[in-house]
Amino acid sequence: MSTRVRRLALSIPLDSDGYLRRECPNCERDFKRLVNKAPNSKPAQTANGGPYCPYCGLQSPSNNWLTKAQVDFTRRVAAEHVARAKSHLGLRSLNLRAMRSAPSLEDELRETDDMRIVDFPCHPTESIKVSELWIGSIHCPVCANRISI
Ligand SMILES: [Zn+2]
Ligand SMILES: [Zn+2]
Repeated sequence: MSTRVRRLALSIPLDSDGYLRRECPNCERDFKRLVNKAPNSKPAQTANGGPYCPYCGLQSPSNNWLTKAQVDFTRRVAAEHVARAKSHLGLRSLNLRAMRSAPSLEDELRETDDMRIVDFPCHPTESIKVSELWIGSIHCPVCANRISI
């Protein structure tokens, strides 16, 4: 089970700069974290208890930051996975054929290049993107250090 979850998580699309969209489980605001880091950079260790929200500063375990669209996406990929497994058992249905001709789920979740980049002096490899509308301070997702933007 855990192997499957890890594979689904990796199939979530990034924006063209290599950032993954996240949603805070507390304030429900969207931000993005850099996933495709430079090959020679050392990614920071996430604190015990998980990353911090850049907006409200809440700390939450790493698996709590999926956006609603990503939750929906992973559910549907899992459902499709089950449907495929059933077809291998000879339980093919009309429903399954309709699913095959639909555009791929990855296309539906395509990531847009919105938001502004914020870099942290305390953790230079942990670049994030936050809403252009946000005014005030932003927390580092790794250590909760606050900077003004
Ligand atoms: Zn928050
Ligand atoms: Zn930091």
